[in-house]
Amino acid sequence: MSRSADPNSTPAKANIVIIGAGLIGVSTAYYLTRNQNIHPESSITLVEEVNVGTGSSGYSSGLLNKHEFGDGQEEEGESSNLNQELSNGGFQLHQQLSKEYQGDSNWGHREIDLYDVEIIDQTAKLNSNSTSPSSALSSSSSTSDPLSFLPTISSTSVRRKGDSSSTGYCQPSKLTRHLCGLFLSHPGATLLIAKAISITTSSGVGSDEKVTHDEAGKGTAFSSSSKADGNETDGSLTSSTNKTSTKRVTGVKVTRVVNGVEEIVNIPTDKLILSPGIKLSQLLKTILGGIETNIDVDVRKYERITIKPREKINPCCVVCGVLTDNNNNGQTRNERVDDREIEMIVKEDGNLIISRPSPSSSPSPSPLNRSEDLDLQSFISNLSPKFQPSNGALVLSQTEWSSPMTPNRRPLIQKIEEIDGIWIGVGGTTTQGPAIGKKLAFSVSGI
Ligand SMILES: Cc1cc2nc3c(=O)[nH]c(=O)nc-3n(C[C@H](O)[C@H](O)[C@H](O)COP(=O)(O)OP(=O)(O)OC[C@H]3O[C@@H](n4cnc5c(N)ncnc54)[C@H](O)[C@@H]3O)c2cc1C
Repeated sequence: MSRSADPNSTPAKANIVIIGAGLIGVSTAYYLTRNQNIHPESSITLVEEVNVGTGSSGYSSGLLNKHEFGDGQEEEGESSNLNQELSNGGFQLHQQLSKEYQGDSNWGHREIDLYDVEIIDQTAKLNSNSTSPSSALSSSSSTSDPLSFLPTISSTSVRRKGDSSSTGYCQPSKLTRHLCGLFLSHPGATLLIAKAISITTSSGVGSDEKVTHDEAGKGTAFSSSSKADGNETDGSLTSSTNKTSTKRVTGVKVTRVVNGVEEIVNIPTDKLILSPGIKLSQLLKTILGGIETNIDVDVRKYERITIKPREKINPCCVVCGVLTDNNNNGQTRNERVDDREIEMIVKEDGNLIISRPSPSSSPSPSPLNRSEDLDLQSFISNLSPKFQPSNGALVLSQTEWSSPMTPNRRPLIQKIEEIDGIWIGVGGTTTQGPAIGKKLAFSVSGI
């Protein structure tokens, strides 16, 4: 499909396919249906292998933080600028969506205070040995101190990091499903529960050659002789090099099970958006038929526990930086490492969600000794007696889940250069999700 440069011309009809119905894929679908530059009779098909909002979006604690990558005052590189722009924009979109569609009742959207605290690994352990849980429990019942439920934390390490104008939380899986419902009210919208396994492509304008890539990634070799479709630009996004692709996506093959029988369906496609979360590398290998890309996405594991303390705690969010002894040339210093931050969210119903990167999945070898990491339940029991089962705290769930880990923690929002008509949207945070979706929709619509 080509696009005219004249902004007054009618946009052409397109078949748009999005793979992955997590927060990014669904936000993209939603903003595409709101985009004036999409022909009203275009079809937009959302393909999801498992269920809407059940990937990382189903496990996110849902912390929304406008300043999660700084407030823009710091002098940092391009990656932090993009992150700041997306977090700031995403936070505002969360607020707008909530206002427009009663996010407070539909997906638990709330504004809330955020505190930053620092804890020392060893101290947490020592405190657990020296503090009597019941005495700490009674001494922590002051209501004036919002963090009185964390008696092991020194008040000097507590810093207020955000208030209702910059921090909040939501239930990301419910938000994702709600946006999906809004998307499906568009006449051209379809949700297909199916697994994308391959694509078909044609070689440039004027060629009717078809190349199909099978799931094992043994695709037919591409022809490089045809001229590429030069009409396509990628809106506000750039691909990482100036290489010009000579082939264009024409279809997506998916497998789905109907009445117990697996069938393969081919969906005609002019524009394809890949938002499969942690499965990006696997999917690219499959659909690009072995073509190498310079797209680099790793996977990071997280642990998450949800508990219900016996006594209700006032809602708030706490980011805990863990200080660990680092012995450098004989000098021992406490260092805070970003990849060990622990997030706690106390929700209105009194449930507390705590998540942290799994100690075993540091993306790069850390100079810090992690061998003494405690399992999450013991670790949080040491933080507060209110979190201990012996004091009536109920463990509601304990899970381990993964999230995409991109270079510099910068979300990848780009057009791929190997085949025309394919965009990628992965990485980022729940705060950024709607902004990533809106940016992708803008790019795909070509405004
Ligand atoms: C434990 C945890 C806590 C987190 N906490 C926070 C937080 O507090 N605040 C914050 O801002 N961020 C947080 N995050 C990050 C946040 O979850 C992610 O930024 C966001 O949810 C990612 O959404 P997504 O759409 O990219 O991926 P996903 O939600 O994983 O969606 C991808 C979807 O693609 C589907 N899919 C994959 N391959 C195929 C295929 N071949 N065919 C069809 N479908 C396919 C999958 O089934 C999945 O549903 C957390 C993440 C984790 C894991």
